[in-house]
Amino acid sequence: MRVKIRKGDTVEVISGRRIDKGKRGEVIKVLPKQGRVVVQDVNMRRKHQSQVQTQGRTMSPGIIEFEGSIDISNVMLVCPKCSEPTRVSLQRQDGESIRVCKRCEAIIDN
Ligand SMILES: [Zn+2]
Repeated sequence: MRVKIRKGDTVEVISGRRIDKGKRGEVIKVLPKQGRVVVQDVNMRRKHQSQVQTQGRTMSPGIIEFEGSIDISNVMLVCPKCSEPTRVSLQRQDGESIRVCKRCEAIIDN
């Protein structure tokens, strides 16, 4: 499966945990092999961290929050032109594949 979502895209969560549904955020990581993405402020998880020493620095204990990955099928790309969640088609232009919004036909790549 070709991954049509890239780092830096804005996506909308269309399914998954109720608290995340409808959220929009920037893709901060794409994991193509797992078919998963990490989206800013979506699927927030907490981890308790005990005091650790790393390279001479002491990290204070506490709770750290981080984004967990979600399945790529749970998000939809938000078109920067029409700002609606949309499907994209891949087209070839000058030997490069470009993504095109199926709603407004805008070219999504910069
Ligand atoms: Zn569009």
